Amino acid sequence: MKLCRYDDDRLGVVIGDMVHDVTPAQDEIRKSARYDMMGDAVIAALPDWRARIEAMAKQAPGKPISQVKLLPPVARPSKVMAAPTNYKAHVEEMAARRGTPVETHRGIAAAGIFLKSNSSVIGQSEVIPLRFPDRLNEHELEVVIVIGKKGTNISRENALDHIAGYCMGLDMTVRGKEDRSFRKSVDGYSPVGPYMVTADEIADPDDLPIELTVNGVTKQKSNTSQLIYDIRKLIEFASSYYTLHPGDYFFTGTPSGVGPVQPGDWISAASPPLGELRIQAGRQD
Ligand code: MN
Repeated sequence: MKLCRYDDDRLGVVIGDMVHDVTPAQDEIRKSARYDMMGDAVIAALPDWRARIEAMAKQAPGKPISQVKLLPPVARPSKVMAAPTNYKAHVEEMAARRGTPVETHRGIAAAGIFLKSNSSVIGQSEVIPLRFPDRLNEHELEVVIVIGKKGTNISRENALDHIAGYCMGLDMTVRGKEDRSFRKSVDGYSPVGPYMVTADEIADPDDLPIELTVNGVTKQKSNTSQLIYDIRKLIEFASSYYTLHPGDYFFTGTPSGVGPVQPGDWISAASPPLGELRIQAGRQD
């Protein structure tokens, strides 16, 4: 199932190129959710509600996806995690930029996972508001995990059970000397979308072809098979420090080919099973 949030906080199921309105399910789930829960009530309720939501979608009239305003697929993520330097070719390109031997580069095991601010998350109907256009702003193409249920110290064997679904993401980055989580947490620097594809539709998350274009020109092209820490390992590693909550986003790392983004650029981040996140960069108002 492909689940989206759209227009004025509506919930939809995407079938083909149509969005079917299942907002009444969202209303009911939210009404019975505890205010003090961590994470997102709709994502947490999906296992119980899945069949009802699919039945509702079949009854609801569709609206072309091109005519809706797509929002981030999760309304209330409790956090946004991200993996640094998780593709070998990206580690090599960053080492080459610095002019330092690749062996001296601190890998993910030593660097750990970092957090991006929740306020940096946007959906594809928004524009990426480049706040410091005079500095180097770069695109990082990433597959994003959406956590499905609460867990801590999750084993590799159980990791996939904790995933609700996946979407495409851009870990937008201002290059510079400040702390990584600061430079990557600017408002709008975590676009996600176009919708969430539930985990049951992804046969092997460690074999997803991914490609990013800027103004139609391919800049990044890889496959999650090239991840240094694969999807299961990322969940095991992150949950050895954090409790994961339903609706948490997890950016899995970027392959090589990161490059500059200027106001006006159109960026496409796509994987055939996950769809195409297509978004424009602009300036902060
Ligand atoms: Mn990244």
